[in-house]
Amino acid sequence: MKLLLKHFLVSIIILINTNIYASSIDLDRIDPPMWWVGMENTNLQLMVHGNDIGTTKPVIEYEGVNIKEVILVENSNYMFINLNISKTTLPGTFTINFKDGKKVKAEYEYELRERKNSPNMHKGFDNSDVIYLLMPDRFSNGNPDNDNIPDMLEESDRSNPNGRHGGDIQGISNKLDYLSELGITAIWLNPTLENNMPNYSYHGYAVTDLYKTDPRYGTNDEYLEFIKSAHSKGIKVIMDMIFNHIGTNYYWKDDMPMKDWYNEWPEFTRSNYRGGAVSDPHVSDYDFNKMVKGWFDKTMADLNQKNPYLANYLIQNSIWWIEYSGLDGIRQDTYPYPDKDFMAEWMRRVLVEYPDFNVVGEAWLPQPQAVAYWMDNNTNKDGYKSNLTNVFDFPLMYAISKAFNESEGWNTGTAQLYEVISQDYVYSTPENIVTFADNHDGDRFYTKVKEDINNYKLAMAFMMTTRGIPSIYYGTEILMTGLEHKGHGDIRKDFPGGWEGDERDAFTREGRTEEQNEAYDFMRRLLNWRKTNPTVQYGDLTHYIPEDGVYVYFRKYKDNTVMVILNNNKESKQVDMTRFAKDIGDHNKGRSVLNRKGWDDLNTIEIPAKTPLIIELTNHRGLRK
Ligand code: CA
Repeated sequence: MKLLLKHFLVSIIILINTNIYASSIDLDRIDPPMWWVGMENTNLQLMVHGNDIGTTKPVIEYEGVNIKEVILVENSNYMFINLNISKTTLPGTFTINFKDGKKVKAEYEYELRERKNSPNMHKGFDNSDVIYLLMPDRFSNGNPDNDNIPDMLEESDRSNPNGRHGGDIQGISNKLDYLSELGITAIWLNPTLENNMPNYSYHGYAVTDLYKTDPRYGTNDEYLEFIKSAHSKGIKVIMDMIFNHIGTNYYWKDDMPMKDWYNEWPEFTRSNYRGGAVSDPHVSDYDFNKMVKGWFDKTMADLNQKNPYLANYLIQNSIWWIEYSGLDGIRQDTYPYPDKDFMAEWMRRVLVEYPDFNVVGEAWLPQPQAVAYWMDNNTNKDGYKSNLTNVFDFPLMYAISKAFNESEGWNTGTAQLYEVISQDYVYSTPENIVTFADNHDGDRFYTKVKEDINNYKLAMAFMMTTRGIPSIYYGTEILMTGLEHKGHGDIRKDFPGGWEGDERDAFTREGRTEEQNEAYDFMRRLLNWRKTNPTVQYGDLTHYIPEDGVYVYFRKYKDNTVMVILNNNKESKQVDMTRFAKDIGDHNKGRSVLNRKGWDDLNTIEIPAKTPLIIELTNHRGLRK
């Protein structure tokens, strides 16, 4: 009996020891945290993080899922597992056992979900859209309870222009009707992923968890719900992603997977921010390396996408968000800064899964040819093919910012618009360029036009009727102002009325000033017309060299014609229409889109000073063809 008891006790001690041993690996996370069956690419690479996980061997028993390779790296706290998920694998959950001999030292329940195959999903955005860019921290605070979160380093402080103000996803959801009424069809949010940084965390460009919505904006579920309700109102959602850099507080921080995970320098070295250096045939190695491998900021570590594991991590992360959330498009930050071959491979892999998907890249470059280098199907002399579907039209932004402030001349005024548009031959598909007058990084447009509402209207009418996919920055419709050199807080002010107790609520007619209502009504009419008019969305563009300060162009689609006349003069003009006979064709009547005015004669059109006319042409029977 004594012996038996002794034996029993020994067994218990062994059991306890085994259990302590078995739980000695703290499996911290696996990325991606779950995946899908039925993906085009049957390969999946898991990145496993846990204390000494590299001393174990992963075992999976699930039909259709095979471990092809286990990769151990220099840091034994990481392991990469290459899986093959065969096309016939069924959705479900399986256990990944991390074993040392026969002992299971850690386990993880991995879920493979069914793909969402709704035909309306992942269709991207196109010329029928008008994008509304908004900064989630600065639009509307729908949930004051999430303003401060215990584990988050930066607390809300609305008195600090560079601090967090408390705006969130719930706030944006609450304002979807406002946005729908305005007539926009897509929302681009500045990054919403976790930014657990001590300062300046509100802008979102120093991500500290690529799989988690910042809790001060909401949960991943709230993000999904937001996309669903946006879709139910006919509004698409574009996610902002950043592959060039990552917040220095990412969980890798004190436990780097590999020495070359970041582009490290002997001492802190900034990028030279000279994006054109990447496509420059004469570039020095010194400048090229500094551009691509220099850090964007001290808080933003420069990712080395030449490391194939990091590259996969980023690519799978973007595909994860598309599949997980049903988002409609991606805006990719600082496009020329990461390794360009990696970027082309990323686009290729996204398009393999989602052939109709769109990504708009921020190639912040002043010349059309420099921007065009980054656009899909462009014939670049160095052989580079980006696969990128859309780019932002920075050259046109610079032109719009000046044209309407200037008096007309050979090189000034609307001639600037003409010159930029006339260089469209450099783009494979100029219609896919995203046009904008301002964004979160520069002076507010109303400030750029010196708070002159006539110049503002001319510019907005131009942007909504020329080629491209227009994007407006939140608050443009209520004439928000701000100068970049006063600090980014000045161009990213809170939308009035987004916070309980705000003095004015500019989301309502009563809360807006007379001038704000004038701007809002103008935009609402323009956008809602654009939303239903395929001619202005998809029509071929023919423009005429500006004469006498008047810029005229046509959009034609099937048998329909829209004529736009921009008078940038401080006096009214009688425009002799003879020059435009070919594009007017047999139309002899017209109707103004902006004020319902009609014309029974198209021989001469009088246009008031500093005014846009957008005219739908009709034929002699008074009907649109
Ligand atoms: Ca909040």
